[in-house]
Amino acid sequence: MAGFIRKLEEVVVNRIAAGEVIQRPSNAVKELIENCLDAQSTNIQVTVKDGGMKLLQIQDNGTGIRKEDMEIVCERFTTSKLQTFEDLSAIATYGFRGEALASISHIAHVTITTKTADAQCAYRANYSDGILKGPSKPCAGNQGTQVLVEDLFYNVPTRKRSFKSSSDEYSRIVEVVSRYAIHNSGKSFSVKKQGETIADVRTLPNASVVDNIRGVFGNAVSRELIEVGCEDQKLAFKIKGYISNANYSVKKCIMVLFINHRLVESSSLRKAMETVYAAYLPKNTHPFLYLSLEIAPKNIDVNVHPTKHEVHFLHEDSIIESVQKHIEAKLLGSNSSRTYFTQTLLPGLSACGAADVKPSIGMSESADRVYAHQMVRTDCRVQKLDAFLQPKEKLLPEPEIAGPSGADSEAKTVEPDDMDMWEVMEQMDAELPESEDDEQVQDIQREHSRKEQNEVEEVEKTEVAKEGKVTAPATPKRHMTKLRSIKELRSEISDKAHKGLQEMLQNHSFVGCVNPEWTLIQHHTKLYILNTTALSQELFYQILIYDFGNFGIYRLSTATPIYDLAMVALGSEESGWTEEDGPKEGLAQYIVDFLKKKAEMLGEYFSLEIDQEGNLKGLPLLLDNYTPAIEGLPMFILRLATEVNWDSEKDCFRDFSKECSMFYSIRKQYILEDEPGKTQDSEVNSWRWNVEHVLCKAFRSLISPPKHISEDGTVLQIANLPDLYKVFERC
Ligand code: ADP
Ligand code: MG
Repeated sequence: MAGFIRKLEEVVVNRIAAGEVIQRPSNAVKELIENCLDAQSTNIQVTVKDGGMKLLQIQDNGTGIRKEDMEIVCERFTTSKLQTFEDLSAIATYGFRGEALASISHIAHVTITTKTADAQCAYRANYSDGILKGPSKPCAGNQGTQVLVEDLFYNVPTRKRSFKSSSDEYSRIVEVVSRYAIHNSGKSFSVKKQGETIADVRTLPNASVVDNIRGVFGNAVSRELIEVGCEDQKLAFKIKGYISNANYSVKKCIMVLFINHRLVESSSLRKAMETVYAAYLPKNTHPFLYLSLEIAPKNIDVNVHPTKHEVHFLHEDSIIESVQKHIEAKLLGSNSSRTYFTQTLLPGLSACGAADVKPSIGMSESADRVYAHQMVRTDCRVQKLDAFLQPKEKLLPEPEIAGPSGADSEAKTVEPDDMDMWEVMEQMDAELPESEDDEQVQDIQREHSRKEQNEVEEVEKTEVAKEGKVTAPATPKRHMTKLRSIKELRSEISDKAHKGLQEMLQNHSFVGCVNPEWTLIQHHTKLYILNTTALSQELFYQILIYDFGNFGIYRLSTATPIYDLAMVALGSEESGWTEEDGPKEGLAQYIVDFLKKKAEMLGEYFSLEIDQEGNLKGLPLLLDNYTPAIEGLPMFILRLATEVNWDSEKDCFRDFSKECSMFYSIRKQYILEDEPGKTQDSEVNSWRWNVEHVLCKAFRSLISPPKHISEDGTVLQIANLPDLYKVFERC
């Protein structure tokens, strides 16, 4: 018997339709973030409970919604962004269908709290099935909009049941937020679980695209990026982005693709990119790409279904081919200008002469010479041109390439095309002062490796293979720590953060270095003096806490016995050792045995590698292009054994990070002032260069300055231009 055909009730139709539009919590997050961006927000905060099924809250600081419009925002096809069908082809905003909020309100409880700039106060309203429930009520609130979505799919039991793992849903949400964050550098994003104080991904308003990629995917990727960009008038498209170079690869291709600022997928573009890389990467490994493609709106069908991430556009094949050519050229370029060399631990000291450096152990004695082939140059911008403009007469006619035989064979893979660069490097090498003892140059290979963690979702592990290529077999993702202690230490940092100082540091201009300890910077019309030692210590402390478990490694090419380091430290005045403490040898041995017991933990969490024989093998890579002054190493080792409370987890991580950051901070006592008459300012790796280009850069984007630094003399205002003008006026 045939069944009756009945018209479905309207709410049911709407509910089914809504379930199509919003298939999972991350779809809703994407739509809501796009709404925030459409509303010109610069700060977007996402809070999630139970993978978004229980609660999704998106707070922005955008234009807000006018009270008059609150009644209809959740009705279907209401939008402030599109009036006629013709507008569709020139649409510049994300939303245009007026469908997202309506859909969400059919399958969840929605509460909107919003305030426009003109309104006296904020208004709050509840929605259900597209309809406003009761009048909107005045309440307190800042400008912007907060959309609260509760009990998603409460009325679609089958859909609700299909979500098993809230942590999987949460990862998808984090993925959406972090991709939008990368694409929208200049705006700050954060995403966290409800009840947590610390965000799992957070970007700062002043961070660059690369900073954000670093924050999301880790520094093993971010340091291997090539900027790409091209434009084609005829095909009416523009592409920008960052792609990994031939030196980097992952197990699964990561392509963060935005077309006209919408996060989308394009399998044809992905395939095309993979084809290009196939010639450069080891078999079965893949690249990382972040691409932002802009296509004339008339050439792309924007009217795609919200869940259809896969897009197609007019002239697709020609556009893809053109992009392919550009990427190919970029990769080729980066490959031929690349020279591999390992890095000396003490690049800053190399040019200063080693005479005054207290020769303590093999390590510092031999650190006085940098060979060109020991530096890692991955970016042509790292070295300024004037480094090559050395006075002619100084060059030896036939430069001899001296260097540690073992280390270099491993590190340099010189393509024939590299010869020009290589020759220049040799000349530079010859120009460097001759050293007494050059057989054992202590070099440290930068190893782009991360620790394997057992509790992590996905962690990459990279290694420097013999040919000098870096491979990362797994998807790079930051290891998110589950340790309460670290989360608490992070909150301590964020609770103490001072907004004004942060703004000042973010936007400062570098003026000059007084000495390694003091630096002048300018912000607006004010001149400040920074204590570089104290601030860099704070910086490294924060890096240690925030990047916990995610560090690369500086590998020492020769393992250094901790015993020797401890003996050097005990021999120094600073240690305060007296006869009463017992013989140094006994203490040193105690330190070796003690640290060996902690080796596993230190290696796993802080990339501080100690082998079974009690040798130090590797140090954490905290900041690209920055190496700590090795003279501080003995004291660091001694203090690890004496100043760290190893009994409580939180104290231990805090104390360790304090000691480690002290060792990494830039210290006057370890840096020789420039020889008079020698201009070192422009030299890469001189301490001046490091302060200007590495530390100050990091001060702009990687530190949340604590309040106390404005009170303890770390940052001091020393002049205010308007006041100075007044003084001059009087004269
Ligand atoms: P669309 O984005 O397609 O217009 P939505 O259902 O996503 O449709 O949103 C409906 C309307 O609600 C938008 O056109 C906009 O006017 C308003 N709106 C939604 N979210 C925000 C927000 N975060 N800030 C300001 N206005 C918003
Ligand atoms: Mg929208």
